[in-house]
Amino acid sequence: MRLRRMRVSGCPCARADRDASLGPAMTGRFRRGGPVRPANRTARPRVAGRSLFAAASWTRRRFGGNIQQGKPGLDMPGLHSTSRPKDRRAPAASDARRGGFVLSLDFELMWGVHSNRASHRYAPNVLGARKAIPSLLALFERHGVACTWATVGLLFFRTRAGMERALPAARPRYRDDALSSYGYLDEVGADEESDPLHFGRSLLDIVRATPRQEIGTHTFSHYYWLDAEPDPAAFGADLAAARGAAERLGLRLESLVLPRNQVGEGALDVAALHGVATFRGAAPGWFNAPCASRHDGRLRRALRAIDTYLPLAGTGAVEARLAGGLVDVPASRFLRPVSRALAPLEPLRATRVLAGMRDAARTDRLYHLWFHPHNFGENLERNLHFLERILVEARQLDHVHGWPSLTMGEVGRRLRAERAA
Ligand SMILES: [Zn+2]
Repeated sequence: MRLRRMRVSGCPCARADRDASLGPAMTGRFRRGGPVRPANRTARPRVAGRSLFAAASWTRRRFGGNIQQGKPGLDMPGLHSTSRPKDRRAPAASDARRGGFVLSLDFELMWGVHSNRASHRYAPNVLGARKAIPSLLALFERHGVACTWATVGLLFFRTRAGMERALPAARPRYRDDALSSYGYLDEVGADEESDPLHFGRSLLDIVRATPRQEIGTHTFSHYYWLDAEPDPAAFGADLAAARGAAERLGLRLESLVLPRNQVGEGALDVAALHGVATFRGAAPGWFNAPCASRHDGRLRRALRAIDTYLPLAGTGAVEARLAGGLVDVPASRFLRPVSRALAPLEPLRATRVLAGMRDAARTDRLYHLWFHPHNFGENLERNLHFLERILVEARQLDHVHGWPSLTMGEVGRRLRAERAA
């Protein structure tokens, strides 16, 4: 294995993540004309002045509980549960209605962050995701909400040895080496206890133990399909590795979310061969259309930011459709985290989402929100409050319109059943 010290560049996983720190980004990134680059590109990740090796003990002290057991140390003061949902089991696949509320999370910890932003500075957010995930699951269970967790395959392991045994031989080649997860393997610790940034098995286990949660795939290595040299064999090897890791846990990966939503037909053809039935397609609006990272310019990012508050791309109500033998469950929007810098605009952000959900419910369409758990790694309580408002609205719309909460997989099965009838 080639040794390489961590390179630090850009920002977290998605271009959506680039958008996520909107306040400082809007004032800093756009004015300076490009992503913020750290001065020290060879620094090891440090967490509040601590080394990566010390991150586990820091996390235990900060969050409490046992990382290995995934104990949440959960407290969410101010989150007022009204009552448990009466019955929000998965609707029958034969349900004639098409609409519903869909939530998908890109679960990647550090694997989606390495190639972006000053990742050492973002490590606390990634560690914060470890607290956010149990809190999110508690919220989902309280409100009977289904969710698809598109999980990076590298998070499925308990130890570095187990991870190394599962690495595919064929790997993506990028013009920008910083995009390859395989360039960071020398940073990986021995296990989750010593390296909570690169292992996620205990978290995966508590997701699996929560009702109505689907484990999907975010590829094995956080594969950037449109950034990599076209190589269906390498992409197939990646998905095969993800599938193998899941099968060892008795899981079948039915739903795919491509990193940075880099959907391309070639990718879908390969995915279909590896058992994928459903994928998350692009949200409405040309500025959300899939493209390679180098083509995702400032104008697109600015318009996505504005669309958070003002209706540039419609309400976000979408419909599932068959595409290349798979079911496309398009995104409605990325749920941006709370922004202190843009706090006066928060009511607009809420109105945009809630109005879109109401439009989708009234017209029997889908509303599909997505984000990363690490987006809640900062300002957790405020982000949970915001999300709970959305989940309460979804329950109410289900009560009034029969607008259920669905996983991506359930949307796909429902559409296929309808077409087969
Ligand atoms: Zn990602």
